[in-house]
Amino acid sequence: MVKGRVPNAPGPANPSRGGGRFPVSLERVAPTAAGGRVPDPRRLSTPLAEATAVAGVGLDSAAVRQAMVRRLHATGVTHPAVLQAFGRIERHRFVDSALAAQAYEDTALPIGWGQTISKPTVVARMLALLIEGRDVPVGRVLEIGTGCGYQAALLSCLCREVYSIERVRGLHDKARQHLRPLRIPNLHLILGDGTVGFARGAPYAGIIAAAGGDDIPPAWLEQLAVGGRLVAPAQLRPGRQSLVVVERTAAGWQRRVLEDVWFVPLKSGLE
Ligand code: SAH
Repeated sequence: MVKGRVPNAPGPANPSRGGGRFPVSLERVAPTAAGGRVPDPRRLSTPLAEATAVAGVGLDSAAVRQAMVRRLHATGVTHPAVLQAFGRIERHRFVDSALAAQAYEDTALPIGWGQTISKPTVVARMLALLIEGRDVPVGRVLEIGTGCGYQAALLSCLCREVYSIERVRGLHDKARQHLRPLRIPNLHLILGDGTVGFARGAPYAGIIAAAGGDDIPPAWLEQLAVGGRLVAPAQLRPGRQSLVVVERTAAGWQRRVLEDVWFVPLKSGLE
């Protein structure tokens, strides 16, 4: 999602608040058959947590994943639920096998069709903004730009229901392939143009976009529930893309413009 030659969108020094002593996700762990230790899935209340608890997904890469979680924490990501999601979802399953060795480094990776999966610190920043100060799991969330499906899988740990829309058929199919073995019942993949949102699932408690246009599309604002929050990049000033957070209240929409970022463009139509 972050553009090719500028893989690392500038991150904040202390991107999320959250309190709690680290390692939050490591304190209560369940012994595994392989002798490794993984975060206890019973601590998460979403269907994916139950599915992975049964399937024992991710035992082989648990240690590298937890090292990534520690690094995320060291860079200022402190939200326990976000860290837990990163500890659970195996990023290497979402990239080509040739890139699997780099999957737990803090780098953007190509996913085909000229698109990239963002580096973990950027994804964590977006997710923390989406859920900060709210009860987890949050309600129904729309993701624009499924890509390889990694962030969608993370969202499924943090939200009750996730609708994820992608305009490139090849990526939509690829994400489906990546996600199928995880059997995530609260995640729905849609092939479509996300610039018009996805009215059938509206209103949304959250909307999160992995691609940025010139402004926030009006459909997203309309489809955001009162009390909901949107996190998306947008090019509000020429040549500069910023991370934007919009909260919808009974009185209207309140927008905060945060740090500069560099996401792929939001495009119209299908490919
Ligand atoms: N969250 C993704 C990031 C993918 S990169 C992941 O974890 O892999 C951003 C994605 O947004 C690309 O796949 C791109 O095709 C998609 N995109 C761009 N414009 C879009 C639109 N109008 N509707 C849906 N998806 C769009």
